[in-house]
Amino acid sequence: MIYNTLGKSGLEVSRLGFGTMRLPTKANNADIDKQEASKMLEYGIENGINIIDTAYPYHAEGLSGSGESEKFVGEFLKENSLRDEIILQTKSPVWAVEEKSDFDRFLEIQLEKLQTDYIDVYLLHSLTVPDWTKVKNLDVLDFLDDCLSSGKVKHVGFSSHIEIDYMVEILDEYPKWEVALTQMNYLDEYYQSGVMGLNYLKEMNVGSMIMEPLRGGRLVNNIPSEIQNLWDMAETKRTPVEWALQYLWNRDDVDCVLSGMTSLEQVRQNIEIASRIDEISQNDQELIREVARTYRTFLGNRCTRCGYCMPCPHGVDIINCLTEYNIAHMMGDPKASAMQYFSLIDEDSRADNCVGCNECLPFCTQMLNIPEELEKVYEYFGDEFDHF
Ligand code: SF4
Ligand code: SF4
Repeated sequence: MIYNTLGKSGLEVSRLGFGTMRLPTKANNADIDKQEASKMLEYGIENGINIIDTAYPYHAEGLSGSGESEKFVGEFLKENSLRDEIILQTKSPVWAVEEKSDFDRFLEIQLEKLQTDYIDVYLLHSLTVPDWTKVKNLDVLDFLDDCLSSGKVKHVGFSSHIEIDYMVEILDEYPKWEVALTQMNYLDEYYQSGVMGLNYLKEMNVGSMIMEPLRGGRLVNNIPSEIQNLWDMAETKRTPVEWALQYLWNRDDVDCVLSGMTSLEQVRQNIEIASRIDEISQNDQELIREVARTYRTFLGNRCTRCGYCMPCPHGVDIINCLTEYNIAHMMGDPKASAMQYFSLIDEDSRADNCVGCNECLPFCTQMLNIPEELEKVYEYFGDEFDHF
């Protein structure tokens, strides 16, 4: 295993982190197959993984609520006397916070679920711009100060899918951020905070963690023949997983890649890749760009995310509605895209809120008929996740 320093936290982390949001399950998402999941964690730790990532809602029955992942991780660490050997990371469910005391309430619940009296890295989970405004008004930074001074939390940070401008604003507002978890893979260099976000984290010496390195498995499953043909042309042959992970580990602005693993075979495979240095050459970089360009030809619309059509007077998040629809077409995994659509875009901002006023039309740089495109998005995703 190869280890990196996680920014100013000073933690030495394995460059592969164990994400526990997709553990193997039995009857339903909340019914973790503990025997199999324990084997996976044991193997991972024995072979050098030293950071486990969980969160309040992982393995809950619905999209949010208290999940089973934290409980499972807590039991596993306790039973194996591993608590002090492992960097334990979990996240505060900021969307569920309604008053200041909720921050402490959730932290106490999480400490109990995890059977510990301290958390190594505590992130504000999936910060959106409205959530950031809300928690700031509820003095979240005082809460984080208190967590650090009480020792209940060793290092603080946030995870987010926001755009670069907002990310910079959040980073600049609190000097004690030590870790940020953002989405990145070779298709998402200019999506959300992307490469600019990683550059800024490096400049600020904030540890960078990556989520969705395989886009929820979409970069490695059901590979379109056009993409496979490109990979087959490479001088150095790699599997799609190797391409995706080595692309990230060849970046000097990535400290740790979290992978939500579902089987022991995946753990073995990822550790094997994480344990070897595999330099991505200039030709490889060009091939990766060509693969990304080809994936983009499968898009559902031509939106370039320029933002000129925003804000919509009726609150529609035009950019992200069109983007999630595009991703669904590009990756051919409607359920995973629907999960993103319903969890990242507020109910009041989804495609069905478009009233067809046409006020945005003159501003579209791509001459898109935006209300018609939004109609397609609505037809595709429907108005509830269960649609899938
Ligand atoms: S047409 Fe729809 S998306 Fe465009 S401004 Fe009107 S409500 Fe907003
Ligand atoms: S103006 Fe057109 S291309 Fe630009 S973000 Fe809006 S819909 Fe997309």
